[in-house]
Amino acid sequence: MVEKGYNYAVPGGQRVLIILDFEDKELVKAWIGEGELNKLCKSTLCVDAPHGGLHVYITADDIPEYKFNPVFIKDGKGIADLQSFNSYVVGPRSCINHRYCNADKCPWKGQDYTTCYIPN
Ligand SMILES: [Zn+2]
Repeated sequence: MVEKGYNYAVPGGQRVLIILDFEDKELVKAWIGEGELNKLCKSTLCVDAPHGGLHVYITADDIPEYKFNPVFIKDGKGIADLQSFNSYVVGPRSCINHRYCNADKCPWKGQDYTTCYIPN
């Protein structure tokens, strides 16, 4: 699908998969430290999202029956979701063109510019 230019989603809650969906990778770095983040991403799949976010794929013995949105809060603001049943993330190597972006945090809003979900 990716080779043909399509995007795809990875649903949470399948078998033992949940995905931690962080708004801002830099915030995660500041929180647990760059070394810990690198360690984590060596042991499981981490994917950089096009707007500076980070998806951390995790397997768990107990899968929550629903998503947590948010799962972490900092200064009164949700900084991460936990995607489980009935929720998903956009899959690695999918790409978005920011021309149609309406995210406030998008630095390329309205521009014909494409970035992708990159595994790291
Ligand atoms: Zn954008």
